[in-house]
Amino acid sequence: MQTHILGFPRIGRKRELKKALEGYWKGELSERQLRNTADELKKRHWKVQHDAGLSFVTVGDFSFYDHVLDLTVALGAVPHRFRNTGSAFDTYFAMARGDGSRNIPAMEMTKWFNTNYHYIVPELSSDQTFQPSLDWLEDDVALARRLGFHAKPVLLGPITYLALSKDRTGFSRWESLPQLTEIYISFLERLAPQCGWIQIDEPILCTDMSDSLRETFLETYRLLRKGAPSARTLLTTYFGSLGDNLGTALDSECSGLHLDLCAGNASITDVLTALPEHMSLSLGVVDGHNIWKTNCASALPVLRNAALKLGNDRLLVGSSCSLLHVPVDLELETELDPEIRSWMAFAVQKCHEIALLGQTIDGGWTPECLNENRLAIESRYLNVKTIDPDVRRRCRNVTPDMLNRNTPYAVRCGKQEKALNLPLFPTTTIGSYPQTEAIRKARREYRKGELSPAAYETFLKRTIQEVVEQQEKLGLDVLVHGEPERTDMVEYFGQQLEGFCFTEHGWVQSYGSRCVKPPILYGDVSRKHPMTVPWLAYAQSLTKKPMKGMLTGPVTILCWSFVRDDLEREEVCRQLALALRDEVLDLERAGLKIIQIDEAALREGLPLRKKEAEKYLRWAIDAFRLTVSGVGDTTQIHTHMCYSEFNAILKWIAEMDADVISIEASRSDMELLQAFVDFKYPSAIGPGVYDIHSPRVPSLEEMLEHLEQALRFISPEKLWVNPDCGLKTRAWPETLLALGNMVQAARVLRQKYSDTQNIMTR
Ligand code: GLN
Ligand code: ZN
Repeated sequence: MQTHILGFPRIGRKRELKKALEGYWKGELSERQLRNTADELKKRHWKVQHDAGLSFVTVGDFSFYDHVLDLTVALGAVPHRFRNTGSAFDTYFAMARGDGSRNIPAMEMTKWFNTNYHYIVPELSSDQTFQPSLDWLEDDVALARRLGFHAKPVLLGPITYLALSKDRTGFSRWESLPQLTEIYISFLERLAPQCGWIQIDEPILCTDMSDSLRETFLETYRLLRKGAPSARTLLTTYFGSLGDNLGTALDSECSGLHLDLCAGNASITDVLTALPEHMSLSLGVVDGHNIWKTNCASALPVLRNAALKLGNDRLLVGSSCSLLHVPVDLELETELDPEIRSWMAFAVQKCHEIALLGQTIDGGWTPECLNENRLAIESRYLNVKTIDPDVRRRCRNVTPDMLNRNTPYAVRCGKQEKALNLPLFPTTTIGSYPQTEAIRKARREYRKGELSPAAYETFLKRTIQEVVEQQEKLGLDVLVHGEPERTDMVEYFGQQLEGFCFTEHGWVQSYGSRCVKPPILYGDVSRKHPMTVPWLAYAQSLTKKPMKGMLTGPVTILCWSFVRDDLEREEVCRQLALALRDEVLDLERAGLKIIQIDEAALREGLPLRKKEAEKYLRWAIDAFRLTVSGVGDTTQIHTHMCYSEFNAILKWIAEMDADVISIEASRSDMELLQAFVDFKYPSAIGPGVYDIHSPRVPSLEEMLEHLEQALRFISPEKLWVNPDCGLKTRAWPETLLALGNMVQAARVLRQKYSDTQNIMTR
């Protein structure tokens, strides 16, 4: 039985790639030095796979920035604006990050399926010419072979590539398919003599596909088979089950098919009976998207049954998807509770699990190894650390009326108006203010013990005081405390809640050199003490203006953590919501009249299939409602989401029943607001009037124009004035200028509207 992984994390166990990349971009490292680091990482990662005992090493999963971008470059599909941007290497990074000196914008970036990894969206145009070159992959295959490894190259498949691309108006990217198919044939022909398996990733098969797309898929794969008859292609699918695309995958004429048995609740019985004679089956039983140890006792019967039906030589065992989505090596974690640590496996450990499973099926099993796995799994499932009877009871006792505010929006909005007495077009910000070097320094010193808790608290209070003063001076209407106490909007809450633990080196690539270190949610979640109240009560005490309490919502905490897999996500989310509900009520009691719950990740938590999306949205929205619905009518609930593709889920956003929502809008010219009109969205909206991702200071006129545009869709008494998102990544000088203009814009508008109202009443 053969064993493999679909891909290994590239960043390195100590984020070596990140450091080398950033050094290169700063001009401190040469291209040669960066390439050396890359080669060292590739070699090290192949050795991990080889030493673990896997049948082959995966090649082509490494990338300097992103593997979709790599394919774009390999196909020679470089958009015109990047012609003449220097060496091939410079062009590559210009595509990813833009070329500031020549004012060439980067290619768009978006989320890779339902993960937090972002890929660079390919752009195809009608005059597209491809200039393919497979050197990068062939070089790596050659290097791996020289080192004595069996290489399995990986390519992203043509249908997923095109499905993820975008096209210019008047041209369909699918028109490029014949050319693309020819290129893939030539790639396969060149690789076939050098290796056994060639992995072709088509995760698109785990999403909803139209009949015609399925037809296109089959035609393409038949051509690939005809054009490159000797290529042993392993069609890899992941992030879900095949469902109604199973037939398409089975008819693809590939030599093998890989299934993700961790994401989909797929049964493989159908597959085993329908699998054509010429096809091998690869079973992804080791989760590449989460950090828990595989339960070998439940994976083995599945594998054994498949081996009985197909024979060991037609069977492969692997990771469910690429290990790109988990941290590199658990060995580095010395601070974790040893028991909780024994439940986890990172990329290196997962390679060993896969090898162990393969050996066990082949009869070469070692009782010690399996025993160790069994004990770890038992320790986890039977552990008191993961179960809190009070939390379970509280969840069972959630009643439907706990999800509803006392009165409908139409009634409470009048009461809030009286209680808050805000002007027309109220101005506010999204929560964070610049995270200055002073804040980072204080935090570092506090962590190292160089700054006492009392001194750190004093420092943070002074920072809050300054932020409040600045906002008073600017003349903003609803203030925030600036979030100086938070390193990260999820980590901060995880650190205060029961049921979470944290790694020191558990980094996962988000995009390019950017990595995140998600908290690990391993047990029942509860709140032992208020998390934000002291900061916010203090902030409110400094001003007569309303201070906006600031919390991260349950769905966002869930989406940006590694979450336990022994409890339904819905149930975990309910626990988070109950903990946050207590915080909301404490904030209200402490005198906060406005509370914002950020749900930045609501949309990205959407499952890939429409059918499952509905179910998710139901419990996700209910969790939000459970979080906020305990408050009185006069308390105003805000929510914030930093993206603009709402149309598909607007109905659900309305169901959140927030009093005010702030969204990203400045980059899309307010057109998206049409959807809110069509839908008759009931409550108030703050469409971001300027883009906080850039240090540019937008002028008063520009913001006025944005607001005038917004007023074509939103009635004046429903319009809030705020930036797109938090100001954490900005510096103070540009922040003050931009907010100054923003407040001014609201004033101009107020004047204009009160004048018209005066005329009308006269
Ligand atoms: N309140 C958070 C902030 O301002 C929101 C961040 C986000 O939406 N990503 O930083
Ligand atoms: Zn945001």
